[in-house]
Amino acid sequence: MNTPRIIDGKAAAREVLAAVKHEVEMLCAEGLQPCLAVVLVGNDPASRVYVRNKVERCAEVGICSIEHLLPADIDQATVLALIADLNADPRVNGILVQMPLPKQIDEAAVIQAIDPRKDVDGFHRENVGALSLGQPALYPCTPSGCMYLLNQVLGDLSGKHAVVVGRSNIVGKPMAALLLQANCTVTVLHSRSVDAPRLCREADIVIAAVGRPQLINADWLKEGAVVIDVGINRIAEADRTRLVGDVDFASASQKAAAITPVPGGVGPMTIAFLLQNTVRALRQQLSVPGAHHAL
Ligand code: NDP
Repeated sequence: MNTPRIIDGKAAAREVLAAVKHEVEMLCAEGLQPCLAVVLVGNDPASRVYVRNKVERCAEVGICSIEHLLPADIDQATVLALIADLNADPRVNGILVQMPLPKQIDEAAVIQAIDPRKDVDGFHRENVGALSLGQPALYPCTPSGCMYLLNQVLGDLSGKHAVVVGRSNIVGKPMAALLLQANCTVTVLHSRSVDAPRLCREADIVIAAVGRPQLINADWLKEGAVVIDVGINRIAEADRTRLVGDVDFASASQKAAAITPVPGGVGPMTIAFLLQNTVRALRQQLSVPGAHHAL
């Protein structure tokens, strides 16, 4: 029977957060406390939980956070005016707008309105372009967290064949770019891919970011693959609901050498890298001539 290594995302996130906390302490000693502005529009319960978690983690590592809670029926001009204020505010180093936004607001316009130097989600086209060119920038948090876990398990990733299932702008595409930067051979699968399980069976590394509960099972994997499950899906089961990934954990465990659980895998890494990006944003702002920061 195959017994895979269960990749402990909570422990890895604690390591990253400890390093961030140490860096924040050093910055605070120079009078520079990093500050993250979090914008939440509406009352979506899941978004409220995400925002609360982010604010709590900020406090744990000594990052100042400012919450802006806006009503669900707010108009786009008012949201853009708030972003402009936060861009101009020298106390604010990072801006996070919790997605999804209500229908009347154009998410892409909001993302592009954020100063790229404060874009701690790494979604602005300037940061996306820099990632694509292999230049330093603010990179998206979830793929950065996946890379950390992969480096922990495998060390050098050079020459590995990585298959990314999913091509979204927030996970699949930046994930593929980071794997390429790490010298992997990268295949990206999506809903139009023909015989995705066969292509996936070629992979040394599988990143599942599909949004389809438990789609990827043992049939998609070769023996010894390392499996990173980004998916977070809530499914109904008898009288309760349960969180599952995009990977069928029990089935995939029959073949994987290492695998992330859901929950407790990639999820905690995303917040850890958000906070790391906030510190990185401050450092970049300090290093750019003329960049403003309150001392
Ligand atoms: P999207 O819905 O934006 O993208 C899903 C991708 O999967 C698309 O590219 C789609 O292809 C592809 N796809 C859909 N069905 C199939 C299929 N049968 N075979 C192959 N590819 C398929 O999702 P996200 O990238 O935003 O999120 C993916 C998952 O990750 C979700 O479960 C989400 O909840 C989770 N997530 C978790 C985070 C964390 O912190 N752990 C952070 C962000 C997301 P096409 O482009 O052709 O439509």
